[in-house]
Amino acid sequence: MKSTKKINLTAQIIIALILGIVVGLAMQNQQDFANSYIKPFGTIFLNLIKTIVVPLVLFSITQGIISLKDIRKVGSIGGKTVLYYMTTTAFAVTLGLLCANVLQVGKGYILDSSAVTEYTGAEMPSLMDTFVNIFPSNIINPMLNATMLQVIVISLFLGFGIIAAGEKGKAVGEFIDSMSEVCIKIMGMIIKLSPIGVFGLIVPVVAANGPSVLLPLLKLIAVAYAASILHAVLVYSGTVKLVGGKSPLEFFRKMSPAMLFAFTSASSVGTLPFNIECTEKLGVNKEISSFVLPLGATINMDGTAIYQGVCAIFIAQIFGIDLTFGQQIMIILTATLASIGTAGVPGSGVIMLTMVLQSVGLPLEGIGLIAGVDRILDMARTTVNITGDAACAVCVDALERKKADRQKK
Ligand code: ASP
Repeated sequence: MKSTKKINLTAQIIIALILGIVVGLAMQNQQDFANSYIKPFGTIFLNLIKTIVVPLVLFSITQGIISLKDIRKVGSIGGKTVLYYMTTTAFAVTLGLLCANVLQVGKGYILDSSAVTEYTGAEMPSLMDTFVNIFPSNIINPMLNATMLQVIVISLFLGFGIIAAGEKGKAVGEFIDSMSEVCIKIMGMIIKLSPIGVFGLIVPVVAANGPSVLLPLLKLIAVAYAASILHAVLVYSGTVKLVGGKSPLEFFRKMSPAMLFAFTSASSVGTLPFNIECTEKLGVNKEISSFVLPLGATINMDGTAIYQGVCAIFIAQIFGIDLTFGQQIMIILTATLASIGTAGVPGSGVIMLTMVLQSVGLPLEGIGLIAGVDRILDMARTTVNITGDAACAVCVDALERKKADRQKK
C-alpha cells in the first residue's frame, strides 16, 4: 500500500495511459468487450466530473466576484482575459493555416470516395442567436444542461447582487464561500480516481482506431499535432515567461496532470477541476483562476482553432481546390468565432468545422473523412485549449499583482 501512495498522480495517469494504449491495441478484435465493460468506468468517471463541474463553476466564480468586492476590478481582469483569449486564438488559426500550407497536409492523398461518409452539416445558429443564448431565461435549465456560458452569467449576477446587498448579502456570501470550499474538496476526491477514468476512456478509443484506420490520415494527424506543439511552445512559453515572469519548464511541469487528463478525456470542461488545481500550484491567485479558467473552458479554444485551420486546408487540397488569400483570411475570422462557440466537450469542434467550411464554400463531405480520426485530433486540441486557459491565468495574475504593487507605492 505504502509504495503506491508514493507514486504521484501524474505518474499514475501516465501509467494508466500507457497501459490503456497497450490493452486497447490488444483488444482491436474485441471492441464490443471494450465498449461494454471497460468504457463504463470512463463514463462513470466523466459523469462524476460533470456532476461537480456546474456547482464548482457557480460557487467558485461567485465567490471570486465577491472577494474582488469591486465591479471595476472584475472589469479589468475580464478585459485582459478576453484580450489574451482572442489574440491567441486568431494566432492559432493563422499558425494552423501556415503549417498546413507549408507541409502540404492534403497532398498525395488519393481521395477514395468510399472512405467519405455522407455528412450533412449541423444547423448553425446565427450570430445574433448565439449572442441571445448567452443569457439564461431561468436559473434551473442552464444548470441542468450544463450550459456553461449561462452558468457564468448567473454567477456574475449572483456575485454582483451579493456585493450590492452589502450587510444583508453577507450570509449568502458566507454560504457561497463555504460551498465553494466543499466543492473543491469533492473535486479533489474525484480527481484521485482519474487513473481509472483515464484507462476506461483510452482503451475503447485505441481499440476502435487501430493503426490500420490511422495510417491514411497520418499526415493530417502529424500536421495538426505539430502545429499544436508549436503553438504551445511559442505562445504559452513566450507569454508565461514575458508577461507572467515564470519559467516555461516549470509551467509545463506543473500543468502536466491537467494536460494529460485533457488529452485522454478530450473535454475542456471536464478538465476544469484539474486546471484549477494545477494553476493553484503555479501560484495563481484563486480569485483570478476561478474567473479566468471557467471562462476559458467555455470560450477559449486555441487547439480547436488550429484544428479548423489545418482541416480546412486538408479538405481543400484533397478536393483539389485552391484557396485564395482572401478566403484564408475568412477562415481566420470564422474559425476564431467558431472556436469561441465550440462547447468544451468531446467532439464539438468537428460540428463547428462545418461553419468554417461553409464560409468559404468547401465541401462538407470532407468532414466524413476526418470524423474517423477526430477523436485523436480532439485529444491534441483539448490539451492545447486548456493549456491556453492556464497560461492566460498566469499572465493576468502577474499583471494584477504588478498593478496592485504600483497602487501601493
Ligand atoms: N473537445 C474540445 C474541448 O473540450 C472541443 C473540441 O471538440 O474542439 O476543448
